[in-house]
Amino acid sequence: MKRVALLGATGSVGRQALEIIEGNPDLELCALAAGSTDLSALAELHGVPHTSGGDLVALLEACEPDVVLNAVVGFAGLPATMWALEHGVTLALANKESLVAAGELALRARERGRGLLLPVDSEHSALFQCLEGRAPDEIAGVVLTASGGPFRGRTRAELERVTRSDALAHPTWQMGTKITVDSATLANKGLELIEAHFLFGLPYDRIEVVVHPTSVVHALVRLHDGALIAHLGNPDMRVPISFALTYPERGTTTVPQLDLESGLTLTFEAPDVETFPLLKLAREAGEAGGTAPCVLNAANEVAVGAFLDGPLPFLGIAEVVERTLAAADAPAAHDLDELAEIDSDARVRAREAVGRLEGARA
Ligand code: MG
Repeated sequence: MKRVALLGATGSVGRQALEIIEGNPDLELCALAAGSTDLSALAELHGVPHTSGGDLVALLEACEPDVVLNAVVGFAGLPATMWALEHGVTLALANKESLVAAGELALRARERGRGLLLPVDSEHSALFQCLEGRAPDEIAGVVLTASGGPFRGRTRAELERVTRSDALAHPTWQMGTKITVDSATLANKGLELIEAHFLFGLPYDRIEVVVHPTSVVHALVRLHDGALIAHLGNPDMRVPISFALTYPERGTTTVPQLDLESGLTLTFEAPDVETFPLLKLAREAGEAGGTAPCVLNAANEVAVGAFLDGPLPFLGIAEVVERTLAAADAPAAHDLDELAEIDSDARVRAREAVGRLEGARA
């Protein structure tokens, strides 16, 4: 029996994780956490301790989990990631910001704790599975697939007036609002590029991004002999969630098998980084290193918030991130406190950039 602490229980990943836990007799819930939603009824139903907006580390200390599923949104998920890695408790990571903002600190904590770090992000789970059992010198590179989001094929001029609800109409994945906007700007793939760099220890020039609109192929690995290994399946987060919670075994889910007999056509194309500059900005921030990815993530969180709450226009999101990165010198952080300071400074500068952009339009 594996004891699972579920952080971010009311989000899209959290709700699907509950379904997986309830459907698998080898998994047992041991704690619940959410940002603000009241969890008392759900926690009572499962007989587990809980917190809404409270101290995640205190909750984890008290509940003795075998696995921490971190599905918290944003920078707020960092302390729980660090706790699991330091203590050698298996971390099923759906909070990509942990690795983007704190990649180096997280990897050092994993070295000390010697626990497992299992990605829940679908592309990274797919890569993890394709890479399992392979020696690093067999790997030429990896490929992350991007759906391209709802605005694939549009020009910049066509994106000037798109609205919040246009951006939230994702063609293949049902997800929370922040990540759905990130998919529309391609920021999500940029964050995933940085996440892949830290998870798999690959330099950025060996991590490709291709647009694959139907999201059937989740990721590919290129081998030096010319072979590509791909991971396919219906786009459904219950597969990577189940994989991370049951690893190294594989559980059963109710996700339908991919239907091949009705015809399956796979198309791939290069991403349009002129129209969607956040992918390019993320690659540059990753290559710059230090805390540039932390600044990128902070500025993006602020800009997406300003777009969702209005009146920052869609194209303003990338502009805010670009201006915030340009104004930051982003030295490496030695600990989480230093990182939190850099994160909050970046948020202040991003809010100023939002204000200037909104002022210029008024
Ligand atoms: Mg993903």
